[in-house]
Amino acid sequence: MIKGQFPIEKFRFLETPFYYYDIDLLRQTLDIIKKETQGKNYHIHYAVKANANPRILREISSYGFGADCVSGNEILRAVECGFSPSNIVFAGVGKTDKEINLALDSDIFCFNVESLPEMETIEGLASKKGKRARIALRINPNIDAHTHEYITTGLNENKFGLNEQDLPKALNFITGASHIELIGIHFHIGSQITDLCAFENLCVRAMGWKHWFENRGVRLQLINVGGGLGINYKHPNHCPIANFESYFRLFDKHMKLNDDQSIHFEPGRSVVAPCGSLIAQTVYVKEGLSKKFLIIDAGMTDLIRPALYQAFHHIENMSSEEEPTCYDVVGPICESSDTFGKNREINKAKRGDLIAIRSAGAYGEVMASQYNCRKLPKSYFSDQI
Ligand SMILES: *Cc1c(COP(=O)(O)O)cnc(C)c1O
Repeated sequence: MIKGQFPIEKFRFLETPFYYYDIDLLRQTLDIIKKETQGKNYHIHYAVKANANPRILREISSYGFGADCVSGNEILRAVECGFSPSNIVFAGVGKTDKEINLALDSDIFCFNVESLPEMETIEGLASKKGKRARIALRINPNIDAHTHEYITTGLNENKFGLNEQDLPKALNFITGASHIELIGIHFHIGSQITDLCAFENLCVRAMGWKHWFENRGVRLQLINVGGGLGINYKHPNHCPIANFESYFRLFDKHMKLNDDQSIHFEPGRSVVAPCGSLIAQTVYVKEGLSKKFLIIDAGMTDLIRPALYQAFHHIENMSSEEEPTCYDVVGPICESSDTFGKNREINKAKRGDLIAIRSAGAYGEVMASQYNCRKLPKSYFSDQI
């Protein structure tokens, strides 16, 4: 652990638990993404669902990136925080009429369509408004992303996207429809993908589908390859930025597009996860029969990832220089799954010690709940405290 990395003296005056965002790290990450995509036909749509904190969104939109939204309220939030509607894509399996109408009224860039009935609904609603909606078909590429089953999305029997068998029907409908315009195809194979081979497979499938459409006389403007790039949860200090160079290079190499075609990306986690930490205080150190429990004032209501999908977060004691001791780190919520880590080597703790749960910037604060009548965690930013 790098001492002095957190402004721990300032933390003492803040009520725990809270989220702390390292804005420098976020900017360094955004700089790299910008550098790796500049001068190419690459477009970034940040996946708002990973972290919809207004300050974070403003930071990202200031780089000129677009947004990937999965609800009507995310579209409203994104626009409020500086994203241009002409740079917003809208995904989700259950878009309601109200949400589709909002997206049409906002003139968003593209609907990522996930089923035949959704496509028919968009055609109908756009027709009522005398508009033409741009759509991309989300195709289920049937790729195993080798990630946790709750966050894998690209396999055939999955609620997301259209299956191969649906595509001729979809194309047939689009040909006869006058209020939707097919501009591309969309994929998203899962999340926290660290084996880049999965993206290589995705490129092969995507090229296959591009040809399938071209053979039927359809010229696609774009291929949207979704998000999913993983980060290093084990070593937040040594690897604070995801491997964007290798990631983008892979698409350079394997996607052969025409000059008028572009690749769209929807990174979420890889943009924001490393810059956020959940800061908590040690309430009690409890000696069990064979183990020690570090009981902190943050719980699964503040960060549900460990409870929801056995996610690993690095945990450190910022207040102690004493010898590492083995603890189960648990929260105060009345659920056994309210555990942040088991058998963790953490500097010996006492009541009041400040604990950092690292890499919590994605799917952390956005998923917070008020179970047990708890308050939602506040957020602070490195350049504002
Ligand atoms: C969740 C999601 C993303 C972002 O995924 P990350 O793993 O956070 O990069 C991108 N696109 C779609 C359609 C999603 O559902």
